[in-house]
Formats: sequence, C-alpha cells, structure tokens
Amino acid sequence: MAKKSKRENIWLECKQCGHRNYRTSISTAEGVPKIELKKFCSNERAHTVHKIRRK
Ligand SMILES: [Zn+2]
Repeated sequence: MAKKSKRENIWLECKQCGHRNYRTSISTAEGVPKIELKKFCSNERAHTVHKIRRK
C-alpha cells in the first residue's frame, strides 16, 4: 500500500541576499516546517542562513 505523502518542491533561499541556492522537496503532510539552515550561498560566497521558500 502506498502511503499518501504530500511533497512539495521548495527553494532554500538565502536570508541575507534572497538568492535561491538550493532546490529540494519536503513533506507538507503536517504543514510546512519552519526550518532555517546554514548553507553556502554561492552569491555571497559565504555561509549564511537559508529559509524555505515555497513556489
Ligand atoms: Zn546570500
């Protein structure tokens, strides 16, 4: 039996400059998680906080 899983493609957007550096998919079955990740921003060439950006 296949579970019904809601998945949504999202962007990880740099909080500092708004550059969208990563694209991934998350489960939205229980709402969109509020995640902030420290990722490498290719625009600034530094590690910054990235947040989820829904399409
Ligand atoms: Zn940035």
